[in-house]
Amino acid sequence: MTVYNFFAGPAMLPPEVVEKAKTLGFNFVNMKISAMEVSHRAPEFMDMLQEMEEDIRSLMNIPDDYAVLFMQGGARTQFAMVPLNLIQDKKVVDYFDTGSWSQAAIIEAQKYAQVNIVSSSQENGYKTIALPTQWKFSTDAAYTHYTTNETINGLQFKEIPDSPAPLVADMSSDILSYPLDVSRFGLIYAASQKNMGPAGLTLVIVKKSLLKEPHPLTPTILNYHTHIASGSLYNTCPTYPWYIVALVMKWLRTQGGVAEIAKRNARKANKLYDFIDTSNFYTNNVDQQYRSHMNVVFNVPTSELTNIFVAQADKAGFYGLLGHPKLGGLRASIYNAMDEAGVDALIGFMADFARKY
Ligand SMILES: *Cc1c(COP(=O)(O)O)cnc(C)c1O
Repeated sequence: MTVYNFFAGPAMLPPEVVEKAKTLGFNFVNMKISAMEVSHRAPEFMDMLQEMEEDIRSLMNIPDDYAVLFMQGGARTQFAMVPLNLIQDKKVVDYFDTGSWSQAAIIEAQKYAQVNIVSSSQENGYKTIALPTQWKFSTDAAYTHYTTNETINGLQFKEIPDSPAPLVADMSSDILSYPLDVSRFGLIYAASQKNMGPAGLTLVIVKKSLLKEPHPLTPTILNYHTHIASGSLYNTCPTYPWYIVALVMKWLRTQGGVAEIAKRNARKANKLYDFIDTSNFYTNNVDQQYRSHMNVVFNVPTSELTNIFVAQADKAGFYGLLGHPKLGGLRASIYNAMDEAGVDALIGFMADFARKY
């Protein structure tokens, strides 16, 4: 039976990468040992890191005055690291509140600074984003933080907001899924387990001139300078997941890079939303302008049917379709690794299910 993986994260890897990992992963650059067993300081591993950085720089067209850092601790570690390092002599930080992940970032930042909410989607149930004319930036914020794609509620910014303060973005669930002007940002971070590989790597892209003195109580390991100075090898990294991320970056280049993958992502998402909108059975209430191309949330007519849907989907090999417990309902995560055939198969299953019920 063919299985299709719609988990939100950890999520599907490109099948070509999984195949490669099976063989190459156990013979790391012809050393006849696996990537799990190699020292992070072995020249072969450090060369691999160098190449991964070059691939990411080329895929995202990253300007030279930005550092590209590999870390651990996931996006949630960045929720603290960003304020600790970027508040400096300021008092206020600006945050957009567009869903669960924004909220989690806000709660963490409140430990360190006064958080001004630029715009909140709470009143509309996180289904849309207010127009820029309604945004309320502070006059002297250290930075403006936003979540480019809300993984849980399926809401995605389609344009980079104009902000008076340096822009910081949590791109965990849509990094490398569309072309981006990195020079518009002060700092970008993303956990690896959605669009870059397995869990275990956190990518940080930061404009070096933005990094001055962090808060004096900042732990050494949470200071960006530490990671710049050590070439992302301050502490022992999980060598195997990082190796898989390196393979995914190579894979992305063979797919034609971010511009090509973006076209495919748009076709996949549009197909699925069109099917939902015309089905008379499935619904998605997110403002059409801001519907996520990565996480498609949807509902069936009743909650009993939600459980039946998930049970039958699992049996038919469509995994990971239950929505986040916070939101309920259903969700199909269709990251870069999911091909169009996978989305077509899901639509086929959904159409059969609707006919039956
Ligand atoms: C998954 C996710 C996170 C959490 O990442 P961790 O690696 O579990 O800390 C944060 N933000 C967004 C947008 C996510 O999708």
